[in-house]
Amino acid sequence: MFDLSLVAARDALAAKKFSARELTTAYLGAIEKLNPDINAYITTLPEAALAQADAADISLAKGEAGPLCGIPLAIKDLFCTKGVRTTAGSKILSPFIPPYESTVTANLLRDGAIFLGKANMDEFAMGSSNMTSAYGCVTNPWTRRGDNRPLVPGGSSGGSAAAVAARMALGATATDTGGSIRQPAAFCGIVGIKPTYGRCSRWGVVAFASSLDQAGPVARTVEDAAVLLGSMAGFDPKDSTSADIAVPDFAAACKRGVKGLRIGVPREYRLDGMPPEIDALWRQGLDWLREAGAEIVDVSLPHTKYGLATYYIVAPAEASSNLARYDGVRFGARTPGRDLTELYENTRADGFGAEVQRRILIGTYVLSAGYYDAYYLRAQKVRALMLRDFTEAFETVDALLTPATPSAAFGQGEKMDDPITMYLNDIFTVPVNMAGLPAMSVPAGLDAQGLPLGLQIIGRPFDEETVFAVGAAIERAAGFSTLPNLRAGA
Ligand code: GLN
Repeated sequence: MFDLSLVAARDALAAKKFSARELTTAYLGAIEKLNPDINAYITTLPEAALAQADAADISLAKGEAGPLCGIPLAIKDLFCTKGVRTTAGSKILSPFIPPYESTVTANLLRDGAIFLGKANMDEFAMGSSNMTSAYGCVTNPWTRRGDNRPLVPGGSSGGSAAAVAARMALGATATDTGGSIRQPAAFCGIVGIKPTYGRCSRWGVVAFASSLDQAGPVARTVEDAAVLLGSMAGFDPKDSTSADIAVPDFAAACKRGVKGLRIGVPREYRLDGMPPEIDALWRQGLDWLREAGAEIVDVSLPHTKYGLATYYIVAPAEASSNLARYDGVRFGARTPGRDLTELYENTRADGFGAEVQRRILIGTYVLSAGYYDAYYLRAQKVRALMLRDFTEAFETVDALLTPATPSAAFGQGEKMDDPITMYLNDIFTVPVNMAGLPAMSVPAGLDAQGLPLGLQIIGRPFDEETVFAVGAAIERAAGFSTLPNLRAGA
């Protein structure tokens, strides 16, 4: 059962090869066995999941099955789920039980999905390793060949990615502010797509940086990701930045092929000191696309070099404002004090971890009176130039191909001494968020130590279909089907 993709499991359910209850029971069993080591879930929902599975079996019997009927998923703990604790990976939200359902998760429930539990993540989605979660780090189900030291799954959606890679869920929701879908997908050997800003509603998703945050799926195959995104996406009047644009048939786009497409290679993404394997994989990806009928074109995105610097101004600025709401008064954890100011101080000092406090300090600084023009405003201007770079490139190409990450998964505890080293993980992913574009990471091969590496496909705004077509072509050529060691030995 664990060998089946989401789409194959859906077909098997429709063909009555097994029931939703049997499928859900199997996945709950995998969680029980593997989660103590992997820690991909903060909260598991065995009873609720089985009740949803029984309801799914009734719908299947009646022939009223929605597109995700009976499919067990993991939900990143950033999505508010009605009556189910939602922590955002933070101590400050440890007692928070939302009285409402996020639009994205409501869409999945409408289509018949089953929620196995809430997936671990970096605190408030700030991080690239899952080391900042208040609920313990997540362990990547992959290890280096002949070396059992635990590796990070990437972040911030590391729990979602590890759950899917280790076959503890058939798919998962995730969010991406600067790479948090694509980087963990790459580190765990699975597919992740961040859609165009506005494609999925942000309503009910705990906010990090509102102009960058976007929900998307992580899945085992490109087609699985297409099916999940088709359910998650759609206009929502409750989110003023939600786009009133019809959701196309993403799964159909996976079958389009790439013949005649022009694929751009941004020369600024070829970094000095990049591991030769990543460069080789990138060239391999271009060869695959060329063989499948695409034309490869060199392009330039000259403002790429400002991506990280501007992202780490804009994202903390917005985070410092969004996180002002956690004051210990209205909801979440409270640490009392002698007066109101001390209550605020104690609550926030106790409730937020070190990385979140660092972001709040940076954000407050760049928005403060003397520095607003020098930092925040300039970063916004450079952001406009980065978007212009992409817009100009898309006048001559249909999509771009780049590596997803500058390295494979690294060890737990590595890169923790210097935040800048950690931030460098996002070098290939943040420009996409700054420009609001859709981009996918697709597993394309293994490095010399046996760890997965991903390639990134970037598309025009609201042209996820081309991204799916190119991703599926790479998936077909790469034939990536390796299982992570932890799962293989389960
Ligand atoms: N790693 C990036 C950060 O720490 C991106 C996080 C994200 O996309 N949520 O901000």
